[in-house]
Amino acid sequence: MQNGIKVGCRIIGLANKKKRFYSADRKIPGVGISSDKKHLPIKIFLLNLRSMKPALIVHGGAWSIPAEYEAAHLAGVTKAIADIYPHLQTGMSALDAVEAAVKILEEDPTFDAGRGAFLNARGEIELDAMIMDGATLSFGAVAGVQNILHPVTLARKVMEQTEHCFLIGTGAQLFAQQMGIECLPTEQLLTERELKFYERIKNDPSFYSHQPFEPHPHGTVGAVALDVRGHLAAATSTGGTPRKLPGRVGDSPIVGAGTYADDQLGAASATGWGESIMKVLMTKTACDLLINRSAFAAAQTAVEILSRRVHGWGGIILIDRNGHYGFAHNTSKMAFAYMDESRGIIARIRC
Ligand code: ASP
Repeated sequence: MQNGIKVGCRIIGLANKKKRFYSADRKIPGVGISSDKKHLPIKIFLLNLRSMKPALIVHGGAWSIPAEYEAAHLAGVTKAIADIYPHLQTGMSALDAVEAAVKILEEDPTFDAGRGAFLNARGEIELDAMIMDGATLSFGAVAGVQNILHPVTLARKVMEQTEHCFLIGTGAQLFAQQMGIECLPTEQLLTERELKFYERIKNDPSFYSHQPFEPHPHGTVGAVALDVRGHLAAATSTGGTPRKLPGRVGDSPIVGAGTYADDQLGAASATGWGESIMKVLMTKTACDLLINRSAFAAAQTAVEILSRRVHGWGGIILIDRNGHYGFAHNTSKMAFAYMDESRGIIARIRC
């Protein structure tokens, strides 16, 4: 075997009976070749020689976060980076990192995800989440689930424990039970802030769910990571929009709309008005734009497309395959944080 660490799958090559041996000095990146004494059979080891600097970025929602909630939003996104980035440095996978980061944000009642989620028009909490693995393009998603603190974990179980990608409502709930996921009483997810907000808006005919300047914390959460092996992943979790119709599903659990990851391009998580974000498949659009743009320009252009094509509102965080960050929003604010190699954790409330 050539120099390098043997990682990943092993392919046993066919014997070359005409003695045309594979040349050991042929430079195939990521591929090592070994053979026995007679060069038969030739074993080709796929090597993962990429050792990347990991990258991690999270968001805690866009819209018009009131000044008095800014500190809580910044503290929440900072904690997610501070807790998870060190693990990424020591080899945690991007998939594990985005799930763990989103779980921290789901637990935090500041955000509209897990604990702290909005109530729908019937006064219930319905949660959506998705997770995607950029290495395989596998993803798992759930929508309209109730009484679960970590829908992102349920989404991952859909990806890994079923032959499906997306479960909704009763079926998703049943699957959660089968997976032994704890069913919490509504009071453990509901905050006083959201109950008061619901009471105020439930019969207000002038209220609609995507008022970009309504000063209320809208905190969908998302995370995007690149691990040391060069794999990307993204995850998003949300309670959706306030006073949404029961059964309404936003962009967050829709592949390419609220969440996308592809090792060959980049990975992204979106937040904002789901009905507009899904029309332009904003995260997939942003990833495709990485073909000929920087991460920063791809995020900016994706949000420009959202504004121009569908008069939408929202924001996006992304990482390209080389670990560069991109972020943009056309709402007045977006809470986000990322690990900067030289400056440490950067947490911001607007770009
Ligand atoms: N995008 C989410 C949805 O439409 C809401 C948000 O990000 O604020 O469900």
